[in-house]
Parts: sequence; structure tokens; C-alpha cells
Amino acid sequence: MTPEEFRSVGHALVDWIAEYRSGIERLPVMSPVAPGAIRAQLPAQPPERGTPLDSIVVDLERIILPGITHWNHPGFFAYFPSNTSFASVLADLTAAGLGAQCMSWQTSPAATELEEVMMDWLRQMVGLSRQFTGVIQGFASTATLCALLCARERATNFSQDRGGLQAEEKRLVVYASEESHSSVWKAARLAGFGSDNLRLIPTDENHALIAKELETAMQVDDERGMRPCAVVATTGTTNSTALDPVADMAVLARLWGAWLHVDAALAGDAMILPECRWMWDGVEGADSIVLNPHKWLGTGSDLSAYFVRDTEQLIRTMSTNPAYLRTQHDAHVKNYRDWGLPLGRRFRALKLWFLLREQGVAELQARLRRDLQNAQWLKGVVDGAPDWQRTAPVHLQTLCIRHIPPGWTDGAELDAHNLRIAAAVNHRGRAFLTPSILKGKQIIRVSIGAETTERRHVEALWEELQAAARE
Ligand code: PLP
Repeated sequence: MTPEEFRSVGHALVDWIAEYRSGIERLPVMSPVAPGAIRAQLPAQPPERGTPLDSIVVDLERIILPGITHWNHPGFFAYFPSNTSFASVLADLTAAGLGAQCMSWQTSPAATELEEVMMDWLRQMVGLSRQFTGVIQGFASTATLCALLCARERATNFSQDRGGLQAEEKRLVVYASEESHSSVWKAARLAGFGSDNLRLIPTDENHALIAKELETAMQVDDERGMRPCAVVATTGTTNSTALDPVADMAVLARLWGAWLHVDAALAGDAMILPECRWMWDGVEGADSIVLNPHKWLGTGSDLSAYFVRDTEQLIRTMSTNPAYLRTQHDAHVKNYRDWGLPLGRRFRALKLWFLLREQGVAELQARLRRDLQNAQWLKGVVDGAPDWQRTAPVHLQTLCIRHIPPGWTDGAELDAHNLRIAAAVNHRGRAFLTPSILKGKQIIRVSIGAETTERRHVEALWEELQAAARE
């Protein structure tokens, strides 16, 4: 493809994306296709000869678009917000156009230095002190794995340089709430702790970890000759945005010399609002923190910010330093290949730079406040509706609700009824919700926060929910 052909198809694709976004509200939020339907339309063999890329726009519309669930749709109330702002789209296009491999400072100095500055801007935006230094990881799951690997290596004085965990005398234990994200459990398994050494601590009526239970668990393990190694606090659990008591957990972690990791994947974005920072009170006692600008802020996947207190611990855990990667600048620069799992790195800082320059902090704050107000509005109407129940506090933008018809009690039938309501709403296509289970009860989970979602969309969702419940 020549640069001229690229320009022509590129313009057509930018037009296509703009059309897609401006008409997104007319599409069903959740892709309605059956499993295998997209695959069936694609040739089983690769093409022998190339065709002009013009035809790809036609096939995008015909084959791919029906198989897309629209996360930027104003009726998207499922999982969590995952906004990809236009600024982020353009930044990703630019990053691809530059085609830079950003594993070391030398392999693209601008990528490293922009990342340094962007992580420091973000640190200031969420109110963390200078004791934290940030690095971009792909996803929160990867950041949490990095945290548990660092915890393991700190507790064992770098056992990875000897016989690894297999040669350790004491079993190392990881603690997190029963409501912690599955990525924490996965990281504990992958980092070699083993499921038997992962303690999922009970939660209170607000679904937050009970500090007293954590204390008891750590004490019992210590008395049994095990070593409390890492504590993961969640600020804003996935199910209900519950807030673990970070300050109390920091005290306990310090007492046993355990690593404290704060998983604020979604809620960390809200910390750009000073009025929300009480939610992670005690966070300055953490060893590491993860938050995802790719969730609510709008950078688009993949941009997870991992903040650490001891950068040397991270680098020593991750670094390999073979001869072919060494450069004459290594003593004076950051080489981010040593700050995470993969060697190769995309130029992701560009997304944050474009977004923050285009919107400014004030505009981002205004949007998040809008979403918080919309959540409070929905909370108000749910609380005022006799047949509806809320099963968790509304700290942020997520509501956990159930419909309980008069005379019905807890049980499988009520659970099935609520599942049917969510399915009916999803089937209609104007909104998309993901149901979940909280303390054994089926709930309908409403996660507000798409960039395009305004009050009228939340009002429409409430109408949809009521209509589905009546049916
Ligand atoms: N932690 C929490 C609390 C989450 O809600 C999520 C995603 O929903 C994750 C971790 C995983 O995030 P990622 O997809 O960036 O790995």
C-alpha cells in the first residue's frame, strides 16, 4: 500500500468510525449474534492474493459490526465503563502509525519520557504523594500479578534467584476479600502461592472486608508457621464497588511485614474527584496500587496505571538485562521493559496525553460527577419503588438491585425472576446489563459511566426495568 492509498482508505475509515459513533444509539447494545455466526462468514483459508483495502470497510459493516457489543453506547450499563474517547482513538492510530517499540528508553526516548510525565500527572490527579511512581501496565490483572510477584520476592529475599518458592521453608499466604476480583485469585495461583494459601476473608453487610477477620486469619497462619506475605485491599469491588478498610489493612500488613496492594481498578478513576478520596483512606500505606484509566476515564484499553513505592523492588523482580538489550544510557534512564512482564511495549502514554490535553482535568471531573449524580438519581427512584430492593450502598456509579414482587421471598424462583428481567432488558437492545450474585442472591447490576450516557438514558433504563418486571 502506498502512502496515498493509505491516506484514502484511512480517511474512509475515520469517516466510518465517526458515523458509527454518531449513530451508535440506534444499534442494539449487546451483539445479538449466535455463537459461530461471524466465523461462518469468514473464509477458512487466508487469501492467496491481496485485494484493495477499500473492500474492508464494506466487510466491516456487513460482517464485523453485527458481532460487536457497543461499550461506548449510552445504554451500556454492563460490567464496568470502558470508554474509548475520540482522543484515545486518534492516539492509538498515531501510536500505530509511529510503529514504535517502546521497551527501552533508547528504542523510543519520547515514549519513555512521555510515560514518566503522564504517570506523574495521573499521580497528582488522584492525589497520591510523591512516594509513588507510576508505570503503565496493560491491564489491572497484570499489575496485580506484578504486585504479588514483588511481594513474593520481598518476603523471600529474592528466592527466584535461588530455588524459588519450592525451596522455601515457610508457606507464603495471600489475603483478599471474598469479593475481590478474580484477577487477584488468578495472580495468587500464577505467582505460585497456590489456592490453598489464598485466604478469602469474609465481608460485612456492605460487602467490604472485615478487618478483624483478616487479623485473625493472619494470626492463625503465623502461629501455624506460615508467613503472611501479601494483602490485597479492593477500593471499589467489581460486584458492588464495596470499599475495603484500606487504613486498617495497612496497619495489619505492616504488623506482619506483608505487602499491601490496593486494587482500585475502577474506583481509582474517581479519585480525580477530591470528594471521593475518603474511599481509599490509608492508601499512602500501600506498597502498590492499580487503577485503570481505560475504564472510566476514557483512554481505551489497554492503559492500566500501576503505582509502586519501591521501584527498585519492582525492577529487581522483573529485570533480566541480557547483553543484547543493554545500552550506554542505562544508568541514567528508565527502561520500562524492567517494570513489568513483557519485553515489548506499545506507545500507550500517547492515549493519556491526547485525552488529558483534549479534555483537561476539569472536563473529566465534570463527566464523572455527572455519572455519580445519575447513580444517585437511580438510587432515589429504586429506594422509592415498593417492589425493588437495593442490596449494596451506592458509593460510585454501580447499583445492585432486585425486584421482589409482593408476597415473594428469597429463593430460586426470585433469583430466576431477576435473571429474566435482565435478559428481557438485554434482549430489547436499548440497554445492556450484567446480572450477578451478591451474598448468594441474584442481583441486577447497573453500572453507569459510558461517556455518552446522560440522565435520559438512565431514566429510560429504569422504564425498561420496570416494564420487564411487570411482564
Ligand atoms: N479489579 C477490579 C476491582 C475490577 O473490577 C476489574 C475489572 O472489572 C479488574 C481488577 C480487572 O481489570 P483488567 O481487565 O484491567 O485486568
